[in-house]
Amino acid sequence: MPNTLDQIIRPEILSLSAYHVPSSIGMIKLDAMENPYSLPKNLRDEIARLVANVSTNRYPDTNAASLKVALREAMGVPLGMDIMLGNGSDEIIQIVALAVSRPGAVLMSVEPAFAMFRIIATFTGMEYSGIPLKADFSLDLDAMLTAITKCQPAVIFIAYPNNPTGNLFDAEAVSRIIEAAPGVVVVDEAYHAFADASFMSKLTQHPNLLLMRTLSKSGLAGLRLGLLVGRPEWLTQLEKLRLPYNVGVITQLVVEKVLQYPDVLQQQAAAIKAERVVMSECLKALDGVEVFPTDANFILLRVNEAGQVFLELKKRGVLIKNLDGSHPLLRDCLRVTIGTPDENEQFLEALQTLIKKPIN
Ligand code: PMP
Repeated sequence: MPNTLDQIIRPEILSLSAYHVPSSIGMIKLDAMENPYSLPKNLRDEIARLVANVSTNRYPDTNAASLKVALREAMGVPLGMDIMLGNGSDEIIQIVALAVSRPGAVLMSVEPAFAMFRIIATFTGMEYSGIPLKADFSLDLDAMLTAITKCQPAVIFIAYPNNPTGNLFDAEAVSRIIEAAPGVVVVDEAYHAFADASFMSKLTQHPNLLLMRTLSKSGLAGLRLGLLVGRPEWLTQLEKLRLPYNVGVITQLVVEKVLQYPDVLQQQAAAIKAERVVMSECLKALDGVEVFPTDANFILLRVNEAGQVFLELKKRGVLIKNLDGSHPLLRDCLRVTIGTPDENEQFLEALQTLIKKPIN
């Protein structure tokens, strides 16, 4: 007789909840920080022609050399730094964790943060330490520095801007953390397209800094491409954990093509940023809604009875993210992704009826 499933599967996996992605069929989808705009018709036609001729019987270029040249240019990667690609940046978090996971090793982040930091720490056998942000969602630098001394984390992940709060942390405080860290620090710039700040130029100053980006939020979520930028000595080690063909041939081709038209995604990001201002103002004008500052393509807000408001919005066909209950600092908080002006209006109208106060 084989052992039972719960004798075979590791206990930490048995007690883990899978990352939940709700069904969104037929809904106004404002829950996942996607860019709401599609690519222009002429570019889609070009992509269709490229894809029609692709050799799908062959493995992709494992080094994605041509795509990396385009990414280097598009992202302003400093000379002397290498790039490692992932099937989304999720996969890069996993690669980094696998590389440093040894018995008792700690993965540290802030709380609230992107849920996958904790989930990946758990399934790669690491200890997770989440240091609470202050009530205004700024970094608690003293608490971070104390925790670093105590836990000696092998890796620290800091999202800049942070998800789900949307804010950029104080850059000086992040630099202090990088300097104090005994291990590697990954600055996760998933929302870079919507923020006017980056640690890219700081890579040369800090030997233990790695910088992560993704194409998901700026318009190519379906293609799954994330990248890690850092010193060759780091990336040579991490490359050993990257599965050989993790980035498919269609992703490589299509991303490279889109990067030949840098204005396209930049203009879409600019439209999203403009809408972010409109949305924030409309939300602030509602009584009973607290709106937090954002440098990302989503807005965190607090309302009375967030769980109820979330469900009522869902009934009206608007899907956002309910964060109530996920962390004490997020009591009654909701997160809404910036959509098209039309989608945002429908969300605002539905919210307005629910909280029964007029929008100015
Ligand atoms: N980092 C942060 C901070 C995120 O919010 C997300 C997506 N929600 C990711 C990484 C992962 O993005 P992807 O795997 O699509 O690149």
